[in-house]
Amino acid sequence: NYKVTVLGAGLAGCEAALWLAGKGVQVTLCEQKPTHFSPAHKSAGFAELICSNSLKAERLDSASGLLKEEMRRMGSQLLEAAEEARVAAGGALAVDRDAFSAAVTRRVEECPNITVVREQVEHIDESAPILVATGPLTDGALADEIGRLTGDERLHFYDAVAPIVTAESLDYNKVFAASRYDRGEADYLNCPFNKAEYEAFHAALASAERAPLHAFDAGAEQGAQPDPDAHGKKADTVTVYEGCMPIEIMAARGADTMRFGPLRPVGLVDPNTGHRPWANVQLRAENKERTLYNIVGFQTNLKWGEQKRVFSMIPGLENAEFVRYGVMHRNTFLDAPRVLDAGLFLKEHPNVFFAGQITGFEGYMESAACGLLAARSIYARLEGRQLPPPPVDTMCGALIQYLTTENKHFQPMGANMGILPPLPAESRPRDKRLRYMAVAERAVASFQQWLNETAL
Ligand code: FAD
Repeated sequence: NYKVTVLGAGLAGCEAALWLAGKGVQVTLCEQKPTHFSPAHKSAGFAELICSNSLKAERLDSASGLLKEEMRRMGSQLLEAAEEARVAAGGALAVDRDAFSAAVTRRVEECPNITVVREQVEHIDESAPILVATGPLTDGALADEIGRLTGDERLHFYDAVAPIVTAESLDYNKVFAASRYDRGEADYLNCPFNKAEYEAFHAALASAERAPLHAFDAGAEQGAQPDPDAHGKKADTVTVYEGCMPIEIMAARGADTMRFGPLRPVGLVDPNTGHRPWANVQLRAENKERTLYNIVGFQTNLKWGEQKRVFSMIPGLENAEFVRYGVMHRNTFLDAPRVLDAGLFLKEHPNVFFAGQITGFEGYMESAACGLLAARSIYARLEGRQLPPPPVDTMCGALIQYLTTENKHFQPMGANMGILPPLPAESRPRDKRLRYMAVAERAVASFQQWLNETAL
């Protein structure tokens, strides 16, 4: 009779506990609520959605829809609970958050193989398989314990992150590949500004609308908000770490501040003019395949609509597709590429598995999907097997690959079409919708084959 402890009854923890229990495993599920709440959690129920109530798109030819299809095939119970709690939201799956949490809580509490323990866990007992799914707001003694196990004094956390765009949406008539002073490979893509373009961009950026700065604003649709404990009350008055200053704050300091900072044009020549640009934005590859780029130095707390409007003024980004907008908030996550095996356990402590946002899978459904993947990996271990990760042309497999590929600038990543390998040129529809559908169909076939072959 197998036994597993799961820490955290959030999205990942509940999904994992339910799946393992369905396999006959005796699960102890530890949850700190209601004796202790993070700054964002408010209710005693499980699988609490702390911000938006949207679980995003359902269409198969969208990244979130594809992820859901893969979850369904893994037997997701959270998706079933979401169906029960669904509210009308066009093509998206949105839920009544209380009904959703109640449906998940009921499933967990009614499950004979799950024992719920309401306590704040401070230590990790690695004498048997244990799953840590305590989310992005993990702190205190448990965070210190994870830090000790992973060799990180403090777990990664960031204050502001830059947006990410897809490579295929850039205008290569304007954007050029080069490193400053031709040093090394042409590692960066460059977006050159002339003086007039820069001045218009600066004016728009300095006056753009920022997201509200009071933390964990319950109703905020925007997603994550900054943590007041980390940095005080107002972004322009707080001390921000070097290299972490939101770009709009830098812009507000003066017309040329950015030109002497991340937008400096030195060491670059625009092949279209033969001259040094007036200012220059650099894009750095976010993945090995170079299908995604992040806008270097553009950590931001602008509202998402404003990011789209203002950052699309950067030459070459006029039609850029944003797969992630910049956000400011506290976010505890592992340095996954260094410490995590593709089986979602610590390379140095193989009994300690992780799931959810703390691994770098970003988003509600991504976290739940990660719970399913970790549960399968644990069960395979209990059966004396090692589960190969899903193929890289599936959404789950691409996310695992992203997590476990060396990356000095590792940041959490949500489902997006940009991380899937492109179709071969000869079978690549020009129409984006058809192309995404073809990529999704390839993913589903590949995922099903993985499920059949791994036969858990
Ligand atoms: P959680 O859902 O946070 O679950 C972790 C559980 O572990 C909680 O119930 C917690 O009480 C418990 N726990 C923590 N520590 C302990 C301990 N020591 N002992 C016992 N139990 C413990 N994603 C979106 O898709 N849309 C959004 O709108 C969105 N908004 C977000 C807003 C904020 C402020 C943050 C921080 C993140 C947001 N995310 C959003 C990202 C992410 O999807 C959610 O954080 C998601 O809830 C992560 O799921 P999880 O299962 O990893 O963790």
